Amino acid sequence: MTYIHSTIAKLMLSSPAQAEFYQAVEEVLESLTMVLEQDDKYRRHAIIERMIEPERQIMFRVPWADDNGVIHVNKGYRIEFNSALGPFKGGLRFHPSVNASIIKFLGFEQVFKNALTGLPIGGAKGGANFDPKGRSDAEIMRFCQSFMNELYRHIGPNTDVPAGDIGVGAREIGYMFGQYKRLANSFDGVFTGKSLLWGGSLVRKEATGYGCVYFAKYMLQDRQQTLQDKQCLVSGSGNVAIYTIEKLQQLGAIAVSCSDSAGTIYHKSGIVLATLKQLKEVQHARLSEYISHHPDAEYTPVADYPDDGHAVWRYPADLAFPCATQNELTAADATVLVQNGCIAVSEGANMPSTQAAVEVFLEAKIAYGPGKAANAGGVATSQLEMAQNASMRSWSFAEVDEQLKIIMRNIYSSARDTASEFGAEGNLVLGANIAGFRRVADAMIEQGL
Ligand code: GLU
Repeated sequence: MTYIHSTIAKLMLSSPAQAEFYQAVEEVLESLTMVLEQDDKYRRHAIIERMIEPERQIMFRVPWADDNGVIHVNKGYRIEFNSALGPFKGGLRFHPSVNASIIKFLGFEQVFKNALTGLPIGGAKGGANFDPKGRSDAEIMRFCQSFMNELYRHIGPNTDVPAGDIGVGAREIGYMFGQYKRLANSFDGVFTGKSLLWGGSLVRKEATGYGCVYFAKYMLQDRQQTLQDKQCLVSGSGNVAIYTIEKLQQLGAIAVSCSDSAGTIYHKSGIVLATLKQLKEVQHARLSEYISHHPDAEYTPVADYPDDGHAVWRYPADLAFPCATQNELTAADATVLVQNGCIAVSEGANMPSTQAAVEVFLEAKIAYGPGKAANAGGVATSQLEMAQNASMRSWSFAEVDEQLKIIMRNIYSSARDTASEFGAEGNLVLGANIAGFRRVADAMIEQGL
């Protein structure tokens, strides 16, 4: 048995039934084979064994009362994975699918992603198996306050700085920050993604989507291509998808799809952003309502999806932007995308392509930007928010956007150049994993056990 396989076997014994976490670890470890063989210091310092074990895992009870006085109990998590490069940093996800495996895979990915940005931030993730869908504003507030009653003691501007993720946006950050401030009796930059009224940064809301499109632009540039007039498939309809579509349109591409957990919209002439924003950001409505505004669009409910994949990836397009959730793009989807002439995939979500789908992209040698590189613009701009808070200044939209472009450019070049250094030209999975790994691993060695 190889070192990597025996490490994964031990992981499965010590942390049973955590499929998504094993998937993320396996993908990273496989691409580290060469770097581990090149320099035995990583084996001697047990870096892999230390990296796959979070520094600290906090799990807690979140009791709350709904509007009818019925009491519910959810599970809350904060997994502080690695602080070698800076304070723990990463989002909070509120979704019924949340469990220890999901939070661990997200935290593990976050360590590498944050390292790739070149900024001084460690990696963490948290959340709860709470379903915000259909809950009133008052219920959301009570849930956020209860969640914070435990979490507040574990976070701080120099220890752990959470942000949003699926199900956690500006409203939830506001309620959680308010409760932190009451309990800690201190107004600290302890969250990012804050409102612009009290310490937030311009561009933070747009950053993950914009960054994901900048990443695609840099991948295309190296292939002498541009985004102009490219047909683009986008999945999801949250913050990441909306601002991916916005930037694609600004750069002359045509975004033709979006989706939510109930179905997919395909609009050949291009998604009308004003309608999408109104439905999702203002009314918190179902995406299916889009067709009542634009009857020329097509809607496919989830029940009609192919068994082996997702309806959105079966439409012809030049580029694909998976911006919904993990494992939303299967090997069958990837095969159809490639057959239909897709030349690049840039991931706005975390680990949206299954491992088999990634193999299809790499085999076909299309440009493939893995989430931990392509969606790092969100967390990078969070760090810019922390820098603004620490210096008590706020930068203009243009200044933050310029920084974001530079960071995305650097992430892309570092993944591309590291891949070439290891003789794997164009393999950004290998390049991103090795570049992120080296930064964290070397910092861990320097800091001792
Ligand atoms: N949840 C985002 C991510 O997956 C952002 C995290 C942050 O800004 O801390 O990277």
